[in-house]
Amino acid sequence: MEQSAIKKNREFDNHELVSFFSDEPTGLKGILAIHSTKLGPAVGGTRYFQYGSEEEALEDVLRLSHSMTYKCIMAGVKYGGGKCVLMAPTKNSVKSKDYLEAYGRVLKEYSTKFYTGEDVGMNQEDIEILGKVTTNIIGTKAKAGDPSPWASLSTYYAMRGALNFAFGDPSLKGKRINIKGLGKVGMELARLVDKEGAILIVSDIDKSRTDIAIKSFSNVTVISPVEFASQECDILAPCALGKDITEENAKTIKAKIVCGAANNQLVSKQEGITLFNHNIIYVPDYVANGGGLINVVAELTKGGYDQKNVEAKCKNIENIVFSILKESKETNTAPSEVSDKIAKRALGE
Ligand code: NAD
Repeated sequence: MEQSAIKKNREFDNHELVSFFSDEPTGLKGILAIHSTKLGPAVGGTRYFQYGSEEEALEDVLRLSHSMTYKCIMAGVKYGGGKCVLMAPTKNSVKSKDYLEAYGRVLKEYSTKFYTGEDVGMNQEDIEILGKVTTNIIGTKAKAGDPSPWASLSTYYAMRGALNFAFGDPSLKGKRINIKGLGKVGMELARLVDKEGAILIVSDIDKSRTDIAIKSFSNVTVISPVEFASQECDILAPCALGKDITEENAKTIKAKIVCGAANNQLVSKQEGITLFNHNIIYVPDYVANGGGLINVVAELTKGGYDQKNVEAKCKNIENIVFSILKESKETNTAPSEVSDKIAKRALGE
């Protein structure tokens, strides 16, 4: 793709680096994006996904790496934002060891600039293979491990912060929590809120996942994913693949709060404002799901990985969310804009 076409992409926002790579023998094809290393080396997961086109993959990687910069700032870790997407040839294609090793060799070229680990479509075994090829892999079993339970934990605390702001009580007991996407993050989030006595409404395109929810949780109703945004509930929690909040449904959502773990929940920045104008509290996705990042970068700290510290930082997301919502109310500004402003300030913009 031409440099000018990359720069013209609406998500470009002065990325420091955008690199397309491929390896013909293994079928590897991907894009690495580094948004900012102003505050430290870039971190961000690797997503393996079947995109409709190269343009679609580019837009996804640019948006995801940009939000990693903001996520690092809001989580209080001194790193920058990056991301990598691997373009899967088909929906159910399997990555060979050779394919992953070829990707590992690409990553090796950026070993001081970019650290990566698991995101959608990648699993722990993939991470272990990559970790044998290059040093800039985070979340291997021997170190921080799978980030997803930590993304669930920080989202749970984000919900508490929003509930405290909205109802003066952070408890989830008796609250109706509507989770779309019961994958690694959504299922663990469902477990956490169920444990606290919440009423669950769940949906997933994969029936085997909703079946697990029925067996595991005490108070759960399964709906179709298309009904997600129209349900009466206290919290709408997008935990699937993003872009669940559209300009259309932002005006009609019947929830007090939108707080989930998915990245890029809003189709564009505009929906954050529309939700605010319709008195719906939106917790910025990159604030809520910061626990996954907090966990994986913990292994890069000088003293080594410290789980207690990771737990404390995830818990602190409750306070961070509360203070964003308070500032939003005081300044009559959408929470998404408040947190974007905090991040921009930290970048000196
Ligand atoms: P996953 O692939 O394990 O789970 C995604 C789930 O969503 C699957 O069960 C899938 O069937 C379901 N799904 C997909 N499309 C759907 C649709 N249209 N309607 C209903 N369900 C649908 O992924 P994950 O790791 O749980 O990640 C979920 C989200 O959280 C992603 O947006 C990811 O970027 C974000 N996130 C993940 C982590 C992490 O550590 N895994 C950390 C931070 C943020």
